[in-house]
Amino acid sequence: MTQLMQGKRGLIMGLANDKSIAWGIARALADAGAELALTYQGDQFRKRAEPLAAQLGVTELHECDVTDEDSLDAAFAALEKSWGKLDFYVHAIGFSDKGELRGRYVDTSAENFRSTMDVSVYSFTSCVRRAEKLMTDGGSCVTLTYYGAERVMPHYNVMGVAKAALEASVRYLAEDLGKNNIRVNAISAGPIKTLAASGIGDFRYILKWNELNSPLRRNVTQEDVGKSALYLLSDLGSGVTGETHHVDAGYHVVGMKAVDAPDI
Ligand code: NAD
Repeated sequence: MTQLMQGKRGLIMGLANDKSIAWGIARALADAGAELALTYQGDQFRKRAEPLAAQLGVTELHECDVTDEDSLDAAFAALEKSWGKLDFYVHAIGFSDKGELRGRYVDTSAENFRSTMDVSVYSFTSCVRRAEKLMTDGGSCVTLTYYGAERVMPHYNVMGVAKAALEASVRYLAEDLGKNNIRVNAISAGPIKTLAASGIGDFRYILKWNELNSPLRRNVTQEDVGKSALYLLSDLGSGVTGETHHVDAGYHVVGMKAVDAPDI
């Protein structure tokens, strides 16, 4: 596995702390020999991001707020200057007002609907457009989604609607960029306890439910997601594009409560 990403350079956006899915992906890619650039959002995350970047020997660590076009331009310009070229890109970013990640979807405010779509959906398209310019030798892009895009999940609300749009974006981007041998895929991860997830109402119940009812009878880890990202970002996934790949211990195939699952 060590040589799989040797000589490959990629950008991973969305590092908040060592629980972040971005961190699980970064470790898997670094273990496979990739050279990484990482971004974090604003000063409040710098203190956590710096030691993590140092742990992987990452020198390309940049601040980037995806709602700010200048900030995006600056991050990609920095990479263009240092590397000139990019082989892979990972978008592990999402946000919605946690006040609306509980209660009823129908009560979503216009303001939060727009900002959720901006941060969690449009940012992937705008980053892929910038990454494409640097992927002069083909490339692979991955974003993170959740089963709440396909089925109604408790409290996921506007985020479920945003993830459905994100998954549709993956298919359109795959068609646009495929001619240049750039692949675009999504990983639909099962629930993992992260900073973003802690904003979702009853998240502990959701975790327990998935653990008891998934075919593998467990929750997935950052490492599970990292290994699948490695597959999609490396040559192992060379024929795969436009796909939403479930890394959820099989939960998405289940139709009803497992017969051996206790009541929770
Ligand atoms: P996390 O809190 O560690 O990461 C979310 C990241 O989004 C943070 O680094 C945050 O700074 C960043 N972000 C938010 N707004 C931003 C902005 N305006 N500009 C730049 N960055 C911004 O949580 P996570 O669970 O690792 O989330 C990563 C992705 O995985 C998200 O898209 C999330 O929806 C998705 N996901 C998470 C789970 C889960 O259960 N944790 C399951 C499926 C999908």
